[in-house]
Formats: sequence, structure tokens, C-alpha cells
Amino acid sequence: MTDPVTGVRDRGLAPGGIRRDACPLCSGTDLRLRLQVGGRGLLECNACGVRFTDEYAEGADVASYYGTVQAHHGKADSEDQFAAIARIQADAMESIAGPRRHGRLLEIGCSRGHLLTELEVRGWDVNGIDVAATSVTEARGRCRGEVWHGEPEDCPFEPGSFDRIAMFDVLAHLPHPVRTLQTVSSLLKPRGQLVLSTVDEAWPLVPVFLKAFRALPNRLAAVQDEMYEGQHYCYFSHRNIGQLLGEAGMELAATRPLTPLSAQLFVHHYPVKRRLGLLAMRRLDGLLGSSRKMLVLATRRA
Ligand SMILES: [Zn+2]
Repeated sequence: MTDPVTGVRDRGLAPGGIRRDACPLCSGTDLRLRLQVGGRGLLECNACGVRFTDEYAEGADVASYYGTVQAHHGKADSEDQFAAIARIQADAMESIAGPRRHGRLLEIGCSRGHLLTELEVRGWDVNGIDVAATSVTEARGRCRGEVWHGEPEDCPFEPGSFDRIAMFDVLAHLPHPVRTLQTVSSLLKPRGQLVLSTVDEAWPLVPVFLKAFRALPNRLAAVQDEMYEGQHYCYFSHRNIGQLLGEAGMELAATRPLTPLSAQLFVHHYPVKRRLGLLAMRRLDGLLGSSRKMLVLATRRA
């Protein structure tokens, strides 16, 4: 298999073309440039701390990009790996949201339907949404529940339909995170739960890496690719995710560090130096109780 370093780089940048000159969370315009990512600026909002690219795309452009580049593309490449990822995600969801295994569950960004299938086996009545047509076709063949092709804002599900919504590794890819989470909130029953995973930009090692990337851009290009994937538009953190959820009509219930899938499943495919680096980072995270990724639980306000 391709090593994950090459795999991540081969995905290329998510589409751009629309300039962003205000914060996607608080609309603040007091911004500073923190880093260059593939020719785009990574900006930070001085008011709320959210970091985001100075360019994004939406609608059909985003859908056609994810029609080619699917979830975990370049890293996972076998059915066994996708099934392993689904079990890890289902276990993570139960660990933060409770062991419930009945009711209606929606997965946003369901890709090819591996997690939907795992959750269906565990007892949930599942539905999915994805912007990539090819993924949706495959997901429909994999699970019994209805899978909608399109964006959450246009989906046909009735407001207040779902006991739980899962959104793994989707938030950072959204062009309009507040608007999409408002839709998520409206689709939940009162006190319904949202479980999501995303990058935690308040990871204690981020300031160290930002300095290093600016000082040694060429030598650390592969590490930067892994930390700031060209597919991401927005980087939230455990410090400001509550503000985002509040804007959308939800309450933050819990955040916790989540071991990145790379460290669990793909580390043996890395070149030796990278592998040692990643393992050293995991040791440090173990000591600090931190992780580059976080798992988040929110509830819709009653
Ligand atoms: Zn802001």
C-alpha cells in the first residue's frame, strides 16, 4: 500500500475560489496569518481563536471533489481497515454518549456506509447523508437505512427526527460550520445527542509545530501535511467548540482527547523516522493527557 504520508499529499487541496475575510464562527475581522498551507493562508480570529483557510468552496465544487477523494482516501485501502475504523468510531461514540443501541441515528458524512452498517448491527435504526454520489450508492447497498445524497441543509428528514447524530471528521471540511450545525440541531429531538470528532487546535504541541513549520518549511512539509490537511477549511478546539455549538442551539456536554486513527491503524505503514516521531508524540500525549484530535458530545437544547 502507499505510505500514508504520500497518500495524504496525493489527495491535493480541497477546492477554493471563494475568499474568506471574516471568521466563520463569530464573523470577526481582526485576523492574523499563522501559516501557509499549500499556497493558502491559515488565518486565526483574534476574537474567538478559530483558525481557517482564507479560501474555500461550496456546493457542487465540494461535492465533486469528495466524489473523487473519499474518507480516509490514501490511508485505508482495504475493507478490513474500513470495518476496523467503523468499530473504533462506534466504540468511541458509546464511550462518550452512552451505551444506547436503539432509536434513530443519522450519520452526516457517512461516506461508503461502513459506520452505518456497524451501528445497524448494534441495533440502531440508521440514516446517512453524504455529498459524494459514488459513496452514497455504495452506502445504500451496504445498509438498510435511507441514505440521502446532498447536504444536510437540503435533506428530506423531518425536524426533530433523531435521537443521535454522528459526524466523524466532517466539521473541519464544512464551508459553513455554523449553518450546518444549526441544521444538525434542528434534526435532533429535544435533548438529542450530537457526537462528533475533529482536530483539536488547542493541542499543546500546536504552537511548537507552527514555529517549526515556519522555520523549516521544506524539511517539515510531510509533517505539516499530516497536521494541516489540505482538505480542511476550519480548525476548532476544545476551548471554542462550545461557542460554535451554542450558536447552533446546542449545549456542549463533554470533550475528550481521541487517539488519531493514524496512530491506531496506519502507523506501521509510515517510514521509520515518521513512525518513531508519531510514537514519541503518543507517549507525550499520554503524559499530558492530550491528543491532536478530540471527541465531542453535545445535546440539543430542550
Ligand atoms: Zn472568531
